[in-house]
Amino acid sequence: MYINSLKLTNFRNYSQVDLLLDKGLNLFVGENAQGKSNLLEAIYLLSTLRSSRASSDSDLVCRDVLESEFPVARLETEVQRAAGRLSLEVAVVGRSGEKKRAGKRVRVNGLAKRTSDAVGQLAAVLFTTLDIEIVAGPPILRRRYLDMMSSQVDRGYLRAMQRYQRVLQQRNGLLKRIQAHDASPSELGFWDQELSHAGGIIMKGRSDALGLLVPYACEQMGKLSDEVETIALAYKPALRDVFEDPLPIEEAEWTNRMLQALEDGRSKEIGAGVTLYGPHRDDVEVLIDGLPAAAFASRAQLRTAVLSLRFAEAAYIQACLGDEPVVLLDDVLSELDEQRRRGVLDTFEGFQQVVLTTADPDRVRDVLKTATGRFVVSGGAISRFEGE
Ligand code: ATP
Ligand code: MG
Repeated sequence: MYINSLKLTNFRNYSQVDLLLDKGLNLFVGENAQGKSNLLEAIYLLSTLRSSRASSDSDLVCRDVLESEFPVARLETEVQRAAGRLSLEVAVVGRSGEKKRAGKRVRVNGLAKRTSDAVGQLAAVLFTTLDIEIVAGPPILRRRYLDMMSSQVDRGYLRAMQRYQRVLQQRNGLLKRIQAHDASPSELGFWDQELSHAGGIIMKGRSDALGLLVPYACEQMGKLSDEVETIALAYKPALRDVFEDPLPIEEAEWTNRMLQALEDGRSKEIGAGVTLYGPHRDDVEVLIDGLPAAAFASRAQLRTAVLSLRFAEAAYIQACLGDEPVVLLDDVLSELDEQRRRGVLDTFEGFQQVVLTTADPDRVRDVLKTATGRFVVSGGAISRFEGE
């Protein structure tokens, strides 16, 4: 799929921008702090209904209007998909003063929808320089990597995630009350069932997704490193100190394992006052050349590994949807040597649209030549340019 047009109103540092994008490679050049990442964040938000970096919706609304009567950022796009045209509109309402009505409103082809129904209508994969943390950072970032990917292609997974979060909060509240002798452990039975049911869907989803991802990631790692380096991923569900058996395959089996873990770990959980088992504590082990990446890999190896993971994400989404996601590359090429840069771009040759930003066009001259659309980003305004 590819984006035909994009319109932003009062989003971040864009008060008004109206853009026609090309198929193929779109290059956005601009100095630091001009709005390049904001532009990709906007596209990613239209895809996932979540910001790639903001912690609150208010951050997304242009500061100039945040205190006004209508503190709203509006994002609109027209997308050409294999299955036909799609129009998507997201309004982000910021919180100003006393008014508490922050949140997102979504329209798909003109009709109001729940945000969860709009996730993944526009499929996109975002590469940023912070991605290295997926491999080198804490487990939550690896869980988020899997969740953001699976949510785009699997509504059931997204729903299970939402239910799991709600049940987890309830169950943690109950564990605290039991700890304080304000509730009885027998009340846990119901919540154990609910949590394990949603948890089973999530763990099966993650395990299956990883199974499909690994071959893509391995292939890409080989390509980017002249077949020198290897990557391996292993799912580490947080049931492991209870079970060391091979991982389940069927969803019902995952659910049963989780139920068992909760039952066996009950006194430990009451002692801790929080839920200790389940997918909210999962991890994915990443091995580069057979060694744990976070502890042993070099900077360049980490970078290559993470590019491979993002590429695998794109390939996975493509395989699930039968349509290519839009590929968003936020200043990730300038830190690579020419051979790896070429490797990345060659990889995306089969994709319909790539949107690339750079603060340093001299470092990516080779890319500049092949771009079909070239734009300059300056102080929240975007214009096309031709020539060198
Ligand atoms: P770099 O090359 O350093 O990555 P960039 O072009 O990617 O720069 P952005 O991250 O897009 O820059 O940010 C551009 C500017 O947007 C920043 O100066 C930031 O202060 C501003 N900005 C962010 N949020 C808002 C907002 N809600 N309202 C107004 N301006 C904002
Ligand atoms: Mg940036």
